[in-house]
Amino acid sequence: AKEGGRRRPYRRFVPAMRERLQRRREMELDLKAALDEDQIELFYQPFIDAGQRRVSGFEALLRWRHPGQGTIAPSVFVPLAEESGLIEQLGVWALEKACHQAVQWPSDLTISVNLSAVQFQSATLVDDVRRALAESGLAASRLQIEVTESLFIDESDKVLAILTEFRRMGLTISMDDFGTGYSSLGYLSRFPFDKIKIDQAFVRDMRRPENIAIVRSVIGLSRALQMQVIAEGIETEEQMRILYDEGCREMQGYYFSRPRPAGEIPLMLSEISSRWDQEFAVDAAPR
Ligand code: C2E
Ligand code: MG
Ligand code: MG
Ligand code: MG
Repeated sequence: AKEGGRRRPYRRFVPAMRERLQRRREMELDLKAALDEDQIELFYQPFIDAGQRRVSGFEALLRWRHPGQGTIAPSVFVPLAEESGLIEQLGVWALEKACHQAVQWPSDLTISVNLSAVQFQSATLVDDVRRALAESGLAASRLQIEVTESLFIDESDKVLAILTEFRRMGLTISMDDFGTGYSSLGYLSRFPFDKIKIDQAFVRDMRRPENIAIVRSVIGLSRALQMQVIAEGIETEEQMRILYDEGCREMQGYYFSRPRPAGEIPLMLSEISSRWDQEFAVDAAPR
């Protein structure tokens, strides 16, 4: 197993690379088939409005139940779909599915759908969204879209036009993973965002004063810009409490619920509502 490693590294490197490419190609082909074969699914994770003590909506998150490899995470197959062009089809599917799902919920619940930067290259994105709304009958005000900072690497005029149209249609536009990307604060003033989503990286370790400082300033920024703010990745009561004390009211994370299949939404709603008084009693909590 150790032969030749020092002298001729490429001998091992080249076949390994070829193998990786091969596996990727196979996965791409599998992904193409996956949509037709019902292996792709949406899970839903609630947004908690801790101020009003209610669930305010759900985020739709893709899952791939691969026949041979179990569940594959979107962090693996979404980039693959972006590179192979499949993201357009996958994205339209997710939009339509999520809207059809949400229209069955109580009308005070929103649905949030992640859009890839690559989807903004598609000439039909605005029409796709319009059609998903029209065909499902979902009010535009109940649809949120989440985009990341990768959207702003190039073609910002085109992106601005699309986001402006979404805003005009009545959608809520959310800046996902805020603070982790190519973040320039200028984007927040140049583009029509309604909401900032504080990335879980800052929430994860709020015992670090640096992270508290970042969280505090993002909350302040959202206020100054009259945007909503939500924190993601809350896993503990302590994190919830700190965020609440910092003035953040909308939250999402495993502490409240993991993403779960559509059929479990009624269960999630009732489980969360029964936890308000004991576990989520942020107001009554000592500081
Ligand atoms: P995201 O939009 O930032 O979603 C948040 C991710 O964090 C989700 O991972 C979610 O399951 C996970 N998460 C939620 N709460 C917690 C928590 O308390 N702790 C931890 N450790 N993680 C938490 P997931 O479902 O694996 O999705 C990963 C990413 O894949 C998403 O990040 C999003 O960028 C992308 N993605 C998912 N669905 C779609 C989609 O329909 N379209 C596109 N373009 N991207 C998607
Ligand atoms: Mg998201
Ligand atoms: Mg995020
Ligand atoms: Mg993320």
